Amino acid sequence: MTDFEKLKKDFPIFSRKINGKDFIYLDSAATSQRPKQVIDAVTEFYSSYNANVHRGIYRISEEASEKFEAARENVRKFINAKSEQEIIFTRNTTEAINLVMHGWAEKFVNKNDKIVISIMEHHSNFVPWQQLAKKKNAKLEVIDIHSEEHNDKEGELVEEEINKKIKNAKLVAITHVSNVLGTINNVNKICKIAHDAGAVVLIDGAQSIPHMAIDVQSIDCDFFAFSGHKMLGPTGVGVLYGKKQILEQTDPVLYGGDMISEVHVQESKWNEIPFRFEAGTPSSASVIGLGAAIDYLNKIGMENIRKHEYDTTKYALEKMSAIKGIKIIGNKDPKKRGGVIAFDVKGVHPHDLATILDEHNIAIRSGHHCAMPLHERLGLGASNRASFYLYNNKKDVDLLCSAIEDAKKIFGI
Ligand code: PMP
Repeated sequence: MTDFEKLKKDFPIFSRKINGKDFIYLDSAATSQRPKQVIDAVTEFYSSYNANVHRGIYRISEEASEKFEAARENVRKFINAKSEQEIIFTRNTTEAINLVMHGWAEKFVNKNDKIVISIMEHHSNFVPWQQLAKKKNAKLEVIDIHSEEHNDKEGELVEEEINKKIKNAKLVAITHVSNVLGTINNVNKICKIAHDAGAVVLIDGAQSIPHMAIDVQSIDCDFFAFSGHKMLGPTGVGVLYGKKQILEQTDPVLYGGDMISEVHVQESKWNEIPFRFEAGTPSSASVIGLGAAIDYLNKIGMENIRKHEYDTTKYALEKMSAIKGIKIIGNKDPKKRGGVIAFDVKGVHPHDLATILDEHNIAIRSGHHCAMPLHERLGLGASNRASFYLYNNKKDVDLLCSAIEDAKKIFGI
């Protein structure tokens, strides 16, 4: 049994006091905190074997290359990809999705082709497809969500639309877990429908991979994108998984060192995958730090993490729903969602609430959370968002709820 309370001690930032008090971090959907093990791996890189990877034939460069490639193998195992060639290091999810847009979609999506996304997409998985559709005169189809009146389905994708819109699609790009609604989409089913229709599928895994076990072969997606910084890893590293045969057809989008096998005055030949997509010096320390983050997550076990977050989210949904004037956005069934709770407090603007909570040393997010089309759909200019990770617990939820009550008092509500 993992002692989640003890595990918080692995995170140096939580020993920090603000105004003499602990601080409560409820913004892991934006970026997670890092355990000492990850910070140490980054420090060790710089203090004992800092050198460029894949280039030198001296000892420390070979060590750096070995550790860099070991991290790639670690990622491969973590998501159960077939081969290390299917793991491309990027800067973040955004860059991974843009790589698919420029390298694969610009080549294969043509006039009148259908690109299908959903209304709950983060801007990272919305804007690239909107812009590509404009450029190519392709059609952008957007799957809607169920609204409040469909109680048990609130915040879920509308199934009839999935079936209808994916028909004849060229590309389907859908998030695994919404960063606002928390909805966990049935990506296995979406991939099956999309493949039956002959479409290629990209899954935005930014909000799923930190919190649950991922098996890309079982999902059967063609691409899967995620960021290291949301899963205890450093900033500056993300991953694009792609099926080998699809990556072989994908064009590189950045040209330069390491992505070539031969360069002549008039012609160049590309390196093999995945190196073809990794031009220039990579964020080596961050990649190695991501490897350490995966070791840390594996030690706890993704099933245990999901269970802990499920318990925290269930408790939070119950406790927050009891606050008068609060509106929880999305489905109320914790089984259908990850540890993200967006909410609105009647009479208190989200920015005011976040400011008052900050005075209680509680960090939440307020705004549109890079999901403006979804907020427009919900008829909201902005919302509050509390998001949980393995270092949060029910006490944090209690403190959040009493701080919300305090904010209501300040506003005379
Ligand atoms: N997709 C989703 C669902 C996200 O929540 C985020 C980050 N908020 C992103 C994509 C973008 O991640 P990054 O900023 O690391 O590229």
